[in-house]
Amino acid sequence: MSEEPSVPAENQRCGFVAVVGAPNAGKSTLVNALVGTKVSIVSPKVQTTRFRVMGIVMAGTAQVILVDTPGIFQPRKRLERAMVAAAWNGAADAEHVCLVVDASKGYDDDSRAIVARLKEAGRQVVLVLNKIDLIKRDKLLGLTASLDAEGLFSAVFMISALSGNGVPDLLAHLEKLAAPGPWMFPEDQVSDLPQRLLAAEITREKAFLALYQELPYSLHVETESWEERDDGSARIDQVIYVERESQKPILLGKGGRQIKAIGAAARTELEELLERRVHLFIHIKVREDWSEKRGHYSEIGLDFDA
Ligand code: GDP
Ligand code: MG
Repeated sequence: MSEEPSVPAENQRCGFVAVVGAPNAGKSTLVNALVGTKVSIVSPKVQTTRFRVMGIVMAGTAQVILVDTPGIFQPRKRLERAMVAAAWNGAADAEHVCLVVDASKGYDDDSRAIVARLKEAGRQVVLVLNKIDLIKRDKLLGLTASLDAEGLFSAVFMISALSGNGVPDLLAHLEKLAAPGPWMFPEDQVSDLPQRLLAAEITREKAFLALYQELPYSLHVETESWEERDDGSARIDQVIYVERESQKPILLGKGGRQIKAIGAAARTELEELLERRVHLFIHIKVREDWSEKRGHYSEIGLDFDA
């Protein structure tokens, strides 16, 4: 446990960077790309990230701690309000802020609202124009100019989080921003998420991807038990909670095919991540009005009263 760190404590540097932006801008994809492994789940569906997840990257003598946040948007329901509050809290706690903008969407109302609020807070912000693989260069330059005119940004990067294009330059910059100070996490740690929670998140991602249109995002996954077996494999039991009895057959699919496919995809990814065989058992239960119950919020670090 108490192994010597590769850099003596007096030479260590540490930086806290909040990654904020509109839903779907590619924040989680970027955090995963910077960390070099999946720590936060990604889907084309907005509001996939529900709570704050930290990704941890070692760069030179620095430990860069990235705070992936839920997307910032106009919240209506209670769960949405809690998610947006978690995003702003993540930003307030961090030393630096990275604003991720989906370049293919341009400088839209969502991004404008976030920029206005960051200005109010008097923050120094690193602008990350993402998804440059989707747009033409001249459009990108126009977009950069209109964002730059806000006078908010200390640096601008144009990247594709998906392909990794431009990501090393951004990481080098974040490394430079890190101030002298001891590392906050062991240097081989990549995330602050407990494994059980990450495993539940992976299943939730697969369910989101499979059920794209059909189910509301009130679907919730919990890891109920985790057993390390003598043969080196793990048995993981999870429950997918839906809010209505009528949602069960959608999740099951014809002859149980849908849930089988979700389970198989989750298992494959868990095996890669854990580097061992996984026996994954998924159960489906109905828990009415999940998103209106206080207890579930504190479980995942959200504020019910936000
Ligand atoms: P978040 O809501 O901001 O965390 O966004 P995600 O990281 O979940 O990404 C939303 C969607 O955008 C996913 O389908 C990603 O695969 C996609 N995406 C993210 N980065 C890029 C990129 O650089 N290029 C393209 N083409 N798609 C991207
Ligand atoms: Mg996300």
